[in-house]
Amino acid sequence: MNWISEWALPKIKTLFGAPREVPENLWHKCPGCEQMVFHRDLERNLHVCPQCGHHMRIGARQRLDYTLDEGWQRIELPKAPADPLRFRDQRRYGDRLREAQAKAGQEDAVVVAHGTIEGNRAVAAAFEFSFMGGSMGAGVGEALVTAARLAVLQDAPLVVFTASGGARMQEGAVSLMQMPRTVIATRMVKEAGLPFIVVLADPTTGGVTASFAMLGDIQIAEPGALIGFAGARVIEQTVREKLPEGFQRAEYLLEHGILDMVVKRGEMRPTLARLIGLLRQAERQPEPARTPPPLALAAPAEPESAGPLG
Ligand SMILES: [Zn+2]
Repeated sequence: MNWISEWALPKIKTLFGAPREVPENLWHKCPGCEQMVFHRDLERNLHVCPQCGHHMRIGARQRLDYTLDEGWQRIELPKAPADPLRFRDQRRYGDRLREAQAKAGQEDAVVVAHGTIEGNRAVAAAFEFSFMGGSMGAGVGEALVTAARLAVLQDAPLVVFTASGGARMQEGAVSLMQMPRTVIATRMVKEAGLPFIVVLADPTTGGVTASFAMLGDIQIAEPGALIGFAGARVIEQTVREKLPEGFQRAEYLLEHGILDMVVKRGEMRPTLARLIGLLRQAERQPEPARTPPPLALAAPAEPESAGPLG
C-alpha cells in the first residue's frame, strides 16, 4: 500500500465515474418457502423468514450479537496445532485451513465471548458453520476448553451455540479426541456448580452431537434445526425402513424427549436470561439441612396456639 493505491486510485475511480459498488445480495431466497426476502427485512427479523418463519443459518458473531447485550467481548484463543497429520486429499489441509481463516477472519470454527444476557453475566461459544462446516478439530476443542475455563474463572454460566457437521476428518484421531476433551471441559463447568446451556442450531450432527452438545443442563434448539448423529439417508439404508416425518428435526426431538425447548431466535435472549436467572437463584439458596434436627423428633413441644378442640 502506498499513496497511489490508497489515495490516488480511488480519486481517479471517482472522477471517471467507475461503477459504485452495489451490494450483490439484496434479495435472499428463503429455503423454506422459496420466496424472495429483502435483505433489510431479513436483518430486521434476525435472519428469520418473515413469510414462513424459516430460521436461516447465521454466523457466529451475528449469533453473539443477537444473543448477548451490547459490548460483549471476544476472547483471544490459544493456538492449536494446525494440520497435526500433514493431511492431504485433493489439496493440502493446511491450505484449506488458511483459506477458511482468511475468509472468516478467525482462527477456527468457534468464537468465544463473554458479556451479559439481559444483564446476566455469561460466557458464550458460538460455532461458525461456514468455517469448514463447523467441524471439530483441535482448534474447536481448544476453544471449548478455553470457554469452560473462563466460565469457571468468572463464576458465570456457559452457553454454547452449536452448528457443525461433526468431527474434522482431516485431523483424524486428533479430531475424535476432541469429543472426550470437550466433555471434560463441560464437566468442569458442572463441577463448579455453574449452568451449562446448549443451543442447537441447524445443523448439529456427528461428533459434536455425540459429545458435549447433548450434555447441557438445558437443551434448547432453534425451530426446524437438523440434529442427529448419522445422516437420515444412511440410517434409512441401514435399518431398511422409511423414517418418520420430521425425523431429526428439532420439533420431532422435542416431542420424543431429546430436547427441553424449541425457542425462536427472537425469543432466545429473554429465554436464556430467564433460565440463567432461575438456575442461579436456585444455586444461591442455602442447601437444606441433610439431617432433620433431632429435637423435633425427640420431644414434641406443646403447640403454641391450639385450635378450638385442643
Ligand atoms: Zn420463508
